[in-house]
Order: sequence, then C-alpha cells, then structure tokens
Amino acid sequence: MSCPYPDCSGDIQSRGSFGYCKDCKLPVFCCPVCKNTKTYNRTLARFCVACGCPISLPENKDVEGVPLNQILDFSSHARRINLPESIWIRPLNYKGFLWCLSAAGNLYGLSPHKEKPEYFCSLGEDFGKSPNLVQEWGPFASPIFLALGPKSLKTVSLLNLVTDEFSIELDPGESVLCNMQGGFFGLVGKDESVFFLTRTSEEIRLASLSLKTRKAQKVPLPVTNAQIPVVGPVNAGGHIVLYSRESLFKLNTERSDAWQLTPIPFEVDFQPIVTPAALSHSSLDMPLGIIPPLVSEDYLYIPGTSRAEPAFLTLGLEKAITTFSILKVPPGIYDSGPRQQLVLASRGRVLTYRGLLAETPAADEQILGERCVFHHNSLSVTFARPGRGGRVLRWYSKGKDAQDYPFGDPEDFREALGFFVAGSCIMFVYTNGTNKSVMIVWDLYR
Ligand SMILES: [Zn+2]
Ligand SMILES: [Zn+2]
Repeated sequence: MSCPYPDCSGDIQSRGSFGYCKDCKLPVFCCPVCKNTKTYNRTLARFCVACGCPISLPENKDVEGVPLNQILDFSSHARRINLPESIWIRPLNYKGFLWCLSAAGNLYGLSPHKEKPEYFCSLGEDFGKSPNLVQEWGPFASPIFLALGPKSLKTVSLLNLVTDEFSIELDPGESVLCNMQGGFFGLVGKDESVFFLTRTSEEIRLASLSLKTRKAQKVPLPVTNAQIPVVGPVNAGGHIVLYSRESLFKLNTERSDAWQLTPIPFEVDFQPIVTPAALSHSSLDMPLGIIPPLVSEDYLYIPGTSRAEPAFLTLGLEKAITTFSILKVPPGIYDSGPRQQLVLASRGRVLTYRGLLAETPAADEQILGERCVFHHNSLSVTFARPGRGGRVLRWYSKGKDAQDYPFGDPEDFREALGFFVAGSCIMFVYTNGTNKSVMIVWDLYR
C-alpha cells in the first residue's frame, strides 16, 4: 500500500475505503468498482489506478464509513492549522480537501491531515469577496473552481491548476455585484452556466455566463428602483431565484430567446434580511461568508422577521414554488449541516427543522445560541459557557455525555465560518478578519 501522489511513496493510514498518506498527508480512497484494498487513488482521480474504471470519490457525508458520533474524544486531540490570511467567504469542502479563497484572492487547498494549507495560486485581490463554487465540467467532469470578480469570472482546474478567465461584457455604468460587504450577492451554477447579478443606474440584472460558449445573457429584474437591495441568486432545487424585500423572483427559461424573471409577491407578514447591515440588528445570525437563504432538499428558507419575531419564510420546492409558510423560530444562530438541513442554536437549545417541523437534539441551559452551530445525524455542537468558565465548544451525541472543547475567548476569534466534514476529519474554521484564519481539526484516526 503506497501513496498514489507523484513523487511520494509513503504508507497509507486507512480505515475502510478512505485514508491518507502518512508522509505527504494527502487524502486517498479505494476504488468503489474493483474494491482493491491494496491500491489507493488520489481523491481527485477520475480513473482507478488498479482497474482503469472511471471513479469518483463517494460524496462524503459521514466521516468515511464511520458515523461521526463514534469519534470518542472531542475534548482534546484537536489540531490547529493556521492560515496567514483572512477569509471572508465560506470555504468549500470538495474531495477530501477544504478549498479556501482568501479575501486577498489567494486559493489554498487544505488536506485536513496536514499541518498547513497548501497555496495554489492567486486570482487577484478582486476575487475573494463573494461566494465561489466548484463545478464538474466537460466530458470528463473535470473539477474547476470558479470565482467572480468585477469584470470577469476566473476558473482554476483543480486537477492541474490551469487558470482561465471569462470576461463579462458590461454596458457603460454596469457593474458586477461581487462584494459581500455591499450585499448578499451569490454565484451559482446550473448545467453549463453560472448565474450572478449586475447593476446599472436603471436596472438590476440577473446574468448568466455560459462556460461552453463564453457568452453572457442578462435578464432585468422587473422592479422600478434599481437601488433596492436584493439577495441571490440561489439555486433552489433547480430553480434560479433571488428576492427583494417584497417578492421572490424566479427565472423562467421556457423561451430561450426571452428569459424572464417572474415575481412572486410574499403576500404574508414577513420582512426578509436583505442587507449585511440589517443582520447586525437582527435576532437571527449566521456564520460569515454565506448568503442568508438556505436550501434543503425540499425547502427554501428565507430568514427575516414576522411581527417583529425571528422567522423563516419557507417554500416547498416541489414542482411549482408558490406556497409560502412562515416558520417562527427563537432568536439565535442558524446554519446548514452537511445534509443541508436548517439547524439553529438558541439560548438553551439546538433545534433542527424539516419544513415546519422542529426537533431538539440538544437542550442545555448553558448553550449560548451564538456564533456557530453544527448538526449531523445525532451529533450537534455549539458554543456554551459552563458556569463562570470560559467559552467551550460543546459536543452532544445521542446516548453519551456532552464533551467540552475549551475554546475560551481568543483574541484572534472574530467571525466563525462554520464546521466542515472532510475525509476522516471534522473542522471548525474562524477568522480574525484581517490577517489570520484558524482551522481546528478533530481527527478520527488519532
Ligand atoms: Zn504521499
Ligand atoms: Zn478499480
């Protein structure tokens, strides 16, 4: 059993079909076709080195093969990985690596088994300020990393680090909305295109850029004031949507020559959070670097208030997305787990939702209901403060005693970016907002 990465012949540490190299610390997996346990593949490999079959790392929603709640000791055994840069945008978890684009536009790939992140390339400082994505593209489904800037979309092949730039045709006075400080502006992929927003003095436009033809297509938002705040776009179960204070807008592509944005007025007593400034006055909070609406398998959740109380406007994502309901929630911090489920930590409890139905996987009066929350299967974690002690990350797992990881109040902790599951590790990422980000890693194999 030796390492499949170039110029390395290290031994593999594995459990089940997933593992990592003890020397280079990069993640590996066994071919799911030939199940040859003597040969390991790189996690980005597209063909098995043993049998030659097309392969793909199974989407890793559990720590590979082992339920997360079997990680026994969360109170210690955590490693810290420091990145000497600030991250504004939530990193992406893809194929056993965490892909981080710093606010200065530098792309890092982090194997959670390593001591430090690996620098890949710079996209330029205009590119680290709005959401990015990984899309599998072309006849071989090659993974590319995409980031949006003020005049172009840049791509990086994660296989060979070749970069490409797609310029965006802009009218005079038109700008691409690509800085999350100014608003909740997304970048989403669908089929062979990516979608984002632009603004002129007269119009807000939903733009799509084809990765195939490199051509852009734009659809004006049917609103009279181009300066109103909007949130999106979001891919909600295959529907490209965005919203303002009053309406949801859904992209209608039935006529390929005349795309339209169809407004669906909320028509309920609901005020969505539409600007980053509004978030700081809200009773709902979320980790740094994500846009507020949350898409689960069956629902779109839009955060805001209803009659001055925290609430989510929820929409069922069956065929037609027209039925709104209001989900009232206690004030707190929300996020999505690896299964894209709405999770909320409020003072004294952790709640999970499916549609309008709530469950309470953890109840504990020391839960603070702030900064971060994670839930997956029967495992939950959030900040708690025991008595007069310092702040802890408290892990709850069904049938076991809660475990505290001593977090304290470190000076470099300004914003949480959330929790990630990659390979056999679970990670918590935060930033000081200026020149440092930290990953705390709990490793199953330790
Ligand atoms: Zn190696
Ligand atoms: Zn094979």
